[in-house]
Amino acid sequence: MNRLTEYFNSQQGAMLELLRTLVEIESPSHDKAAVDRMAERVAVEMEACSGRIQRLPGMETGDMVLGEWPSPNPGKPVLVLCHMDTVYPLGTLAERPPRREGERFYGPGSLDMKSGIVIALAALRGLGALGIPLAAPVQMLCTADEEIGSGASRATFDALAKESRLVLCLEAALPDGALKTARKGVGDLQVRVEGRAAHAGANHQNGVNAIEEMAHIVLALQGMTDYEKGTTVNVGVIQGGTTSNVVPEACEAKFDFRVASAGEAERLLQRAQGLMKITDVKAYPGMGWAPQPVDRQGADR
Ligand SMILES: [Zn+2]
Repeated sequence: MNRLTEYFNSQQGAMLELLRTLVEIESPSHDKAAVDRMAERVAVEMEACSGRIQRLPGMETGDMVLGEWPSPNPGKPVLVLCHMDTVYPLGTLAERPPRREGERFYGPGSLDMKSGIVIALAALRGLGALGIPLAAPVQMLCTADEEIGSGASRATFDALAKESRLVLCLEAALPDGALKTARKGVGDLQVRVEGRAAHAGANHQNGVNAIEEMAHIVLALQGMTDYEKGTTVNVGVIQGGTTSNVVPEACEAKFDFRVASAGEAERLLQRAQGLMKITDVKAYPGMGWAPQPVDRQGADR
């Protein structure tokens, strides 16, 4: 253990330099050319750690990079999962150049999750340099679209993960240093209610108030929040009506939901579908579920 500690302590400077290099290659998810530049660099670094590299081309999103390292022990590999894309648009780097303050390094995308890539590469390089054989084959997959839902990479990492003995996702630790072992599923609902406009004075009885209906829907959906189960629903945006003396014809709202299990997502979506016409359902799954888009007419509340 001492030998390892000593070695990796001696590598801190080099690791920080590599982190700076990766941070300086901006890689917003929606910019294929930018993420491809990052993939190019990651492939070079993997090769320097004696990996066998494959570049998996992305159609609209950046290319993925898959590195493989053999072990004297055959069998299922350990899959190390990282992503190279960030949420920061091109130009963020100029506004917020990387800097070091004491023990800390700051720069867009360094925490999420270029530092994860650096740590994986340092571990692989270190074991090679110290002549320590891998206890199992290692695969390292760096994806290019994690921050926008992993639509293009999902099939690849699903397939690799199923053939692995263990998957390590190198997202940054929690603030207290604890390892992240699970992520919540995330989705959003956009709800549009259509009623019937009428004059609020002369013709009130002929109107169907879309905002009133939306109020019921908001209460029902928010009411599905269950902190113990890890389920939360948040209505974050609501819009409807034109003026106070007209029964509003339409109302729209946007909800965000988070779940800790696929069953909860199912429960929530079924309830939502029963309540209303859902114009759009998007889900950015963290847990292996992906509801189909729904466009359902009529309300059976
Ligand atoms: Zn991340």
